[in-house]
Amino acid sequence: MIKAVRGTRDILPPDTALWNHVETIVRDVFRTYNFQEIRTPIFESTELFARGVGEETDIVSKEMFTWEDGERFNEKGMIDEWVKKNQSGDPARVEPGRVNVYRTGAWLSELNRLGIQLHVLRGITVPPGSMSSNEEFVTFRPNVSANAIESLIRVRDEVRKKYAQDFGHSAISLRLVVPAEAAKGSPWVSTDEVEVEAFPGNYFSSSQSLTLRPEATAGIVRAYIEHKLGDRGLNKLFCIGPMFRRERPQKGRYRQFYQIDAEVIGPASSGSDSPARDAEVLEMLATLLDRLGITGWTLELNSVGNSAERVKFNEALRVALEPLKDKLCGDCQRRAVTNPLRVLDCKVPEDQPIIDTLPRISEFLEEDSKKHFAAVQEILKSVGIEFTINSRLVRGLDYYTRTAFEFTHGALGAQNAILGGGRYDGLSEALGGPAAPGIGFAIGEDRLIMTLAEKTPAESVLRKPDVYIAPMAAMNVAAARLARELRRHDLVVELGDENFRLKKSFEAATKAGAKYILIVGENEVKADTFALKNLATGEQIQVPFSELAAKIQQGRIQPG
Ligand code: AMP
Repeated sequence: MIKAVRGTRDILPPDTALWNHVETIVRDVFRTYNFQEIRTPIFESTELFARGVGEETDIVSKEMFTWEDGERFNEKGMIDEWVKKNQSGDPARVEPGRVNVYRTGAWLSELNRLGIQLHVLRGITVPPGSMSSNEEFVTFRPNVSANAIESLIRVRDEVRKKYAQDFGHSAISLRLVVPAEAAKGSPWVSTDEVEVEAFPGNYFSSSQSLTLRPEATAGIVRAYIEHKLGDRGLNKLFCIGPMFRRERPQKGRYRQFYQIDAEVIGPASSGSDSPARDAEVLEMLATLLDRLGITGWTLELNSVGNSAERVKFNEALRVALEPLKDKLCGDCQRRAVTNPLRVLDCKVPEDQPIIDTLPRISEFLEEDSKKHFAAVQEILKSVGIEFTINSRLVRGLDYYTRTAFEFTHGALGAQNAILGGGRYDGLSEALGGPAAPGIGFAIGEDRLIMTLAEKTPAESVLRKPDVYIAPMAAMNVAAARLARELRRHDLVVELGDENFRLKKSFEAATKAGAKYILIVGENEVKADTFALKNLATGEQIQVPFSELAAKIQQGRIQPG
């Protein structure tokens, strides 16, 4: 049995109903803050994440799904060029050295019959009765490999046999045309039986390193730069979709997981660097969690400083770690050299007392950053959003500046962060774009739903059938018409089959969780009045067709 790959999973009904419920509330809440949806590709060039997220981060250094998108051989381009060089005038005129295309089709099907895949085979022929009666076949390949040569020789031998039978001569030769570029690079196979022609020109589109997105911000900022979204002023964007990280799978940690991501980005003149934006985003998150009915979350807040302050802090950490690093875990020993800030992220219990003695970022903040952070806190307090300052919160990505935050939840255990985010004032410039301060966050949707599922079972938000239509013998047609009419009234209708016995229809209706069953027999259709039975109470009433939808709708509003 082929199973879903470790670290990935299927999200099945009824759970998908809970996912949709969450996404609907997300869209509703975000809309009231004037956020609009953006959809970016799920893969991007690897360089985007290397530069955007940071080479030294765990994500980029060990967790990305990256592949080389192979070189493409432009076979058609090469054939067209080659034919142009070798053929002139009327193709039906057969002259020495010219390409004879009129028999190509027949030979191709002959090759197919032999089970040999050649992309193109063309005969170069000489007119009958001329001095030479050599016939040459040409095939085009991206490279010269022993395999290609071998199969060509096989073809040639088969074709010779056939040719000798049908045409009475066997002077057939083979030419393999490869792009000169590739000919240079390929290990040359010398053979007397196949002539290899290196055809000038480069017929390859070059390869590209691609990566499944491990997070959304870099792609959104790339789109911001590419489409000059800064011209629109302040952009408030959100996106919902899968992210990919090659992490060790465990509860709440997957290799394909889903994020709900939002970003506020624009030129500074649009107010994108105002602390009011930070506070607005945090307040929106608190509102969202409230609307979802998630209680007991904690907002942890820190300022990680601007890039100059971070450089100083990093340096101070490096110096402070120098005499201590041998006592730390292996990862921290490496981080102490490559990216000291990351040491603060360490979760190894034995390392904690040492890490607690390290300098704090707050000691390195200058006036502007301090003021910004204070302003964010002031607004949050005034709108009644509780938070705690966590001076060790640095977040896993390099691009963060100033405000950084996480919402955590006790119910999640070790992987307790539901969401995280922060400011990234220099990211656009780091990616070659204009200055564009921004702030954003990513909610782990899988974890959000785990937290929610405790209180809100998926079943409770699933819309079950309002009515199950049970057609009696030969009543499929009438039932289909009825179903169409009821669905027009936004009722959820499940349709049985005329071959089901009534007992089976009742079972199916109960299994589907339908509220009513509607029996459609010949008499009912004639009378245009149908038996509608409430499956929970057993109450059955006769309802004229014209009142059916209203009757069923009433039942929906007053369940029972
Ligand atoms: P990050 O982009 O690392 O800040 O992650 C933002 C949020 O995405 C986290 O707070 C988690 O809720 C969620 N998340 C990150 N990695 C994973 C994962 N491997 N599986 C499930 N959720 C994840």
